[in-house]
Amino acid sequence: MARAEEAGRTSPSLADAALAAGVVGAGGAGFPTHVKLGAQADTVIANGAECEPLMHKDTLLMERHAARVITGLVRSMEQVGASRGVIGIKAKRAAAIAALRAALPFEGRVELLLLGDYYPSGDEYELVHAATGRLIPPGGIPLAVGAVVHNVESLLWLADAAEGQPVRDKWLTVTGAVAQPRTFVAPVGTPFSALLEFCGGATVPDPVALVGGAMMGRLTNDFRQPVTKTTGGLIILDRAHPLIARKALPGDQQRRIGKSACDQCSYCTELCPRYLLGYDVQPHRVMRSLGFLSTGAEVQSRWGQLCCSCGICTLYSCPESLFPKEACDDAKAFLRAEGIRWEGTGRPLKPHAQHDARRLPIKRLTHKLGLEAYDVAAEYSDEQPAATRYVFPLGQHVGAPARAVVAVGEQVARGQVLGEAAEGALSARVHSSVAGRVAAVDTAVVVERD
Ligand code: SF4
Ligand code: SF4
Repeated sequence: MARAEEAGRTSPSLADAALAAGVVGAGGAGFPTHVKLGAQADTVIANGAECEPLMHKDTLLMERHAARVITGLVRSMEQVGASRGVIGIKAKRAAAIAALRAALPFEGRVELLLLGDYYPSGDEYELVHAATGRLIPPGGIPLAVGAVVHNVESLLWLADAAEGQPVRDKWLTVTGAVAQPRTFVAPVGTPFSALLEFCGGATVPDPVALVGGAMMGRLTNDFRQPVTKTTGGLIILDRAHPLIARKALPGDQQRRIGKSACDQCSYCTELCPRYLLGYDVQPHRVMRSLGFLSTGAEVQSRWGQLCCSCGICTLYSCPESLFPKEACDDAKAFLRAEGIRWEGTGRPLKPHAQHDARRLPIKRLTHKLGLEAYDVAAEYSDEQPAATRYVFPLGQHVGAPARAVVAVGEQVARGQVLGEAAEGALSARVHSSVAGRVAAVDTAVVVERD
């Protein structure tokens, strides 16, 4: 019996295809898609909101592959028994909307949800609420309210998976301080250095990369790192850029400054999108925990438990340039380590009266981040970056790492399985994106291209 079937699914075909093809959440989370396809839901939502400043890859993907995205969505709806499909996309994305409308043969079953130009309109809780009017229970997942959400690139991969094609390539935007900002498709495993070269190199003396976006992306200066299935793109900036200086400040300094300078103004809470949606996230109260290191940590940390790490409080709201988002991250880690689960605070789950009025426009956010100079189109190129050495981490998804099934010296083809999904665990397969020879096998498989 196929493994997706063993997991209790009633209609395993697309779930098994997704498992075989190694499809995971392409929006950054990396959750194995076959598991989502094992559920029953009334609504499937395509997340094409793309709300990180400067990122364009989901929009250009929808523009160029609208029919494939819709095919993936409809197949997903059939798999989970949904009668309604919704594609969330910003109203300003005129070309992609036109392409989707032209490709929409499923009148009445699939509809477009036109979103405002706000951050974080792509947050699952926001998107599910916008699409269905339902609020996901605190700490829950969309399925709890009958919805399944897929990133649009995952839907493209699902359409491919249904035809037996595994995940090999990744859509990316590389922008910021590069000679030629671009959106393109690169083989998974390509080193960041090759992406940088493909975009004409850095235009600043000491480049670093924000991987995945300015708000929720991670900072690195290691350009040997590879593209994975969850890499959304790179924003290249100089190490001296104020945004990088903020992100690079060590945690102990963040906490020390926060302890002495937080005046409890509560702007961080008043502009928190999760708080405004009705969830009891109160970062200003979490900040109090910095002053109560030995007592009170548990009490104050609970106010950060439902934080989605969107970064608004740290990078936009706080007038003192403090780090409430990082305090919430610490609080969540503390509660996880202590095994403390969400118990509720008594606040009714109901959107704040100012929920719509306090949305954060992307233009204002881009200005605040000091990224206006880099707010350019990053147009699509159908050329691809080239490299000689490709690295495929066996753990590039949520769950257990894949188990390597190739050996050093072995010749592999493009699309060949390098790692099998771990048995009996949440996991995903890993495939080679290039033909070549296996040069190393450890926590990653390294392939030297022919
Ligand atoms: S906005 Fe800044 S200063 Fe105000 S309560 Fe939050 S962390 Fe403290
Ligand atoms: S990062 Fe800050 S603004 Fe975002 S959800 Fe968490 S507490 Fe709210």
